[in-house]
Amino acid sequence: MQSDQTPKILYVEDDPGSRTLVSRVLRSNGYQVVLATDGLSGIRTAIAEQPDLVLMDINMGGLDGYEVTTRLRSMPGLEKTPIVALTANTMAGDRERALTAGCDGYIPKPIDVDSLPRQVRAYLSGWREQLSESQRSLYLEEYSRKLAERLESKVIELEEANRALQKLDKMKSDFIALAAHELRTPITLVYGYTRLLLVNDTLKQEEQPTPGGLADLSRRIFSAVNRLNEVVNDLLNISLIESNQIELDLTLTSIDEVVQEAIAELSPLGEGRDLSIELVGLDDLPPIKADRSQLRQVFWNLLSNAVKYTPDGGRIRVWGRETNGTLDVIVEDTGIGIEAEEQSRIFDRFYVLEDTNYHRSSKTAFMGGGMGLGLSIARGIVEAHGGHIWVESEGRDERRCPGSRFHVLLPVSNNRP
Ligand code: ADP
Repeated sequence: MQSDQTPKILYVEDDPGSRTLVSRVLRSNGYQVVLATDGLSGIRTAIAEQPDLVLMDINMGGLDGYEVTTRLRSMPGLEKTPIVALTANTMAGDRERALTAGCDGYIPKPIDVDSLPRQVRAYLSGWREQLSESQRSLYLEEYSRKLAERLESKVIELEEANRALQKLDKMKSDFIALAAHELRTPITLVYGYTRLLLVNDTLKQEEQPTPGGLADLSRRIFSAVNRLNEVVNDLLNISLIESNQIELDLTLTSIDEVVQEAIAELSPLGEGRDLSIELVGLDDLPPIKADRSQLRQVFWNLLSNAVKYTPDGGRIRVWGRETNGTLDVIVEDTGIGIEAEEQSRIFDRFYVLEDTNYHRSSKTAFMGGGMGLGLSIARGIVEAHGGHIWVESEGRDERRCPGSRFHVLLPVSNNRP
């Protein structure tokens, strides 16, 4: 305790009535009081506040007062702090149990408000209750057994919770797969019929369709259905990847061509965004055995993200190198960047950093949101090829724009004839 400060007392108690009463009594006797409402927050508060004395309620839900005391005893700076147990419904052996767990004293509840200040003063000035060695070893055995039983029941609870979560996760995956399959058929029909309308001779002749006219409406429906198609395809793809059912049609594939195709499909996206896309040295890379259309999807996803997360006027560069039988193809942008702690999570399905309340489904707009599937699909496809995908970035800064570099590593060694 520092002499220039009034003693600080931490009171760990889950009962609001007791917290109010005890803290009033202590404050009116000149003590500083900090409160914690359960065992875990008691540990955190004790570490942060380094109190001069801890009053510890024993019967709390979650971690009980004995367990919190034992934990506090191993915390730096708290090894010697007086900890005084408070228990209601006193039972034989409570005092011994409290001292065995690491408490220095024991006050039964209900608290006698007249004697509390005197008791606190005594503990602050070094008074400690004692326990004989034989009693300590007796209660220690009982305490260790109780801890082992608690641990066992917690492990069982966790296993059950984990099983329930896995079941929920499977239900969600099954629902996504089913919903996507159900949507697939009507979308294919609308898509097909709209295409027929667009190739219809009379409508085709309308170079500049009249706004609101049949040709204009057909084009709008086609573009909306196209987008819907992409969303459903993403959902179907992620279902296949999750259930390890992704099938690869392997042919000798040039990375340069695949990236060019992805860019060709993407170019209307970046229109009006004043972004430059540059390819460097990809034509020097050896061809690899890969599923061309799946790989095109990987680079399309990475490039469309680069477009989305790079402000107007930015640069996107795709370059590559071969080292030790591995191709390293890098999609680099001058965009907002990604925080270090998010860099592995963004590859998880449905993981989006942006607030989904502000979700915009535009694929071209700066920071236009998606469903959080692009990168997990990319990872699934790359891993199915025996490769690896990762990102490096100095962090996220929407003003400074440190950029991101996505690396796609693909094995070449076993692909050569
Ligand atoms: P979405 O389709 O929603 O963009 P992704 O799986 O493709 O989902 O990306 C997940 C998250 O990773 C995005 O919400 C975004 O926050 C972040 N991200 C992806 N690519 C980039 C990038 N090039 N620059 C900055 N952040 C990115």
